Amino acid sequence: MSLYRGRFAPSPTGPLHSGSLFAALVSFLEARSNQGKWLLRIENVDAQREQANAHRSIIETLQAHSLIWDEEISFQSERSHLYEHALKQLADQQYTFQCPCSRKQLKERNGVHLETCNKQTINQKELVNFATKFKLLKTEFSWEDGILGKKHITCQNDFVLKRKEGFYAYQLAVVCDDIAQNITHIVRGSDLLDSTPMQLALYNALKVPPPKFSHFPVLVNSQNQKLSKQTFAQAVNNHTPLKNLLELFTLLKLPLPQKPSTTEEALKMAIKLWDKHYIPATNTLKHMPSV
Ligand code: GLU
Repeated sequence: MSLYRGRFAPSPTGPLHSGSLFAALVSFLEARSNQGKWLLRIENVDAQREQANAHRSIIETLQAHSLIWDEEISFQSERSHLYEHALKQLADQQYTFQCPCSRKQLKERNGVHLETCNKQTINQKELVNFATKFKLLKTEFSWEDGILGKKHITCQNDFVLKRKEGFYAYQLAVVCDDIAQNITHIVRGSDLLDSTPMQLALYNALKVPPPKFSHFPVLVNSQNQKLSKQTFAQAVNNHTPLKNLLELFTLLKLPLPQKPSTTEEALKMAIKLWDKHYIPATNTLKHMPSV
């Protein structure tokens, strides 16, 4: 039995576009070609960024492309107890502090905290309007990336675990979920490379061995901008799923032996051929989807 457990963890901020479909596809092919499980987690920890019904549209698009996950879909909005538990564990071990400094203030002061912020854990009663941050005890982080090879990143800023508005931060939620779901392989876009050191610091503080991290290139448009809602990337057309998959296979230079007639058949062929060396070890990959 395979121990590989991977996942696709979209934030429901809008429908999937070809960049996010590519993310789903690459993590799916990696999991399936390793006889692994592939889980779907809707990362709606930040209610302010969530778009109503986006999760439904994401699910429909995955289903239309036969990218079918294992186990139940998990929703971060239903998992606060996990995050609170980890936060308490980190606080008990003096890894956290309450911080009144805004991002703007820290930027203006080159990362030096306000005089009123002594980076000390203070009385719970005084916590109104303070963010809970993680105290970084080291700044240099290295890991052997499954796609990019040896990576070394310097991370200097203490980072937020719970925002002053009461929301848990992405870094905390994603690590708690990946631990709780026994994820062994994280395969995601290079836009998240800078998050990996923070997550490694959390694994270390929580005394859990980290999963294997692999970062694939993010798809960019003709102006080298990451495909996203902000750069007006089109939603995936669910009426042409086979064509969409074949376009992504072409981008990966995956030589399918013959033209498949269904999405299932296309994925089956791709899984058989798949080797992660088809993923370019670069941070970006140009893609101009045909419409
Ligand atoms: N929810 C994150 C996003 O949509 C991905 C998190 C992850 O893969 O670690 O960008």
